[in-house]
Amino acid sequence: MNDNATDSRIIDGKEFAARLRARIAAQVDVLTSGHGIEPGLAVVLVGENPASEVYVRNKARQTRAAGMRSFEHRLPATTSQEELVALVRRLNDDPQVSGILVQLPLPAQIGADSVIATIDPAKDVDGFHTTNAGLLAVGGDGMVPCTPLGCLMLLKDRLGDLSGARALVLGRSNIVGKPMAHLLVRESCTVTIAHSRTRDLAGECRRADILVAAVGRPRMVPGDWIRPGAVVVDVGINRVDAEDGRTRLVGDVDFESALPVAGAITPVPGGVGPMTIACLLHNTVLSACRQHGVEVPEV
Ligand code: NDP
Repeated sequence: MNDNATDSRIIDGKEFAARLRARIAAQVDVLTSGHGIEPGLAVVLVGENPASEVYVRNKARQTRAAGMRSFEHRLPATTSQEELVALVRRLNDDPQVSGILVQLPLPAQIGADSVIATIDPAKDVDGFHTTNAGLLAVGGDGMVPCTPLGCLMLLKDRLGDLSGARALVLGRSNIVGKPMAHLLVRESCTVTIAHSRTRDLAGECRRADILVAAVGRPRMVPGDWIRPGAVVVDVGINRVDAEDGRTRLVGDVDFESALPVAGAITPVPGGVGPMTIACLLHNTVLSACRQHGVEVPEV
């Protein structure tokens, strides 16, 4: 295969996310200058998890870069559930806050479910509240979790109409696998959800026109599990030891063996990852528009 053919198979999530962020910035500009609406995202970080620190910093930076207000709340690792719930209630009532994100994981003394249940569903830009999960399941108009929304955008950009496609979602978590499956059903795909108890996982994968892998197991899906021409979206982010003694990020799919077989594939890094934050900004704009009763600007 020549290099151009190889390049065209790689789905550039970084580039797509940059375009999406530019569109969001233009929407924010219209909202601010035309309607006096300034969308704002509040991010809450409890404790000092280094990976979470990086995510929160990136989210705040990209929120500001899109012209929105960013409110960061950093609480000590000793914070009680009651204190965190009280903060979330204040953010629910704050008209300057359009979206609320509580960075997970939380320290052991705090129940993530109770905290998420406290977030006003209209401000739940992560889409994790059971009201939003329920709306997605019944085909309603709630907030859609950012990572699966980003995957869907990449799939539609590559394939256009997804209806009738056989889709296999590998992983059934509440934040990726299940909402991804609901989104694909909404697009009229024929959807199978696979997980650790699935029999003949390789056979299930080989039947799929669309394969979304969200398992958290480095390079678990080899090229010979992929139907020739299938579109592969790799959500996995796994840190592994590299030959040079350093570490590097790999996905749940073995990219090298999958690339020659797949019709298109997202790389790790540079595939789904950048889409997640871009979709968070998208949800924040949506949330601000709904709270003020205006349409999302066409730009
Ligand atoms: P979870 O650990 O919550 O879920 C993993 C799922 O994979 C489970 O449903 C589990 O099955 C299934 N699974 C695990 N091992 C196997 C196996 N050997 N065979 C078949 N199925 C298996 O993970 P998440 O959904 O939160 O995340 C998945 C991956 O995506 C991770 O690498 C994570 O880092 C990444 N991620 C990336 C994001 C991004 O922005 N790009 C955002 C969120 C996550 P069972 O239910 O039976 O246990």
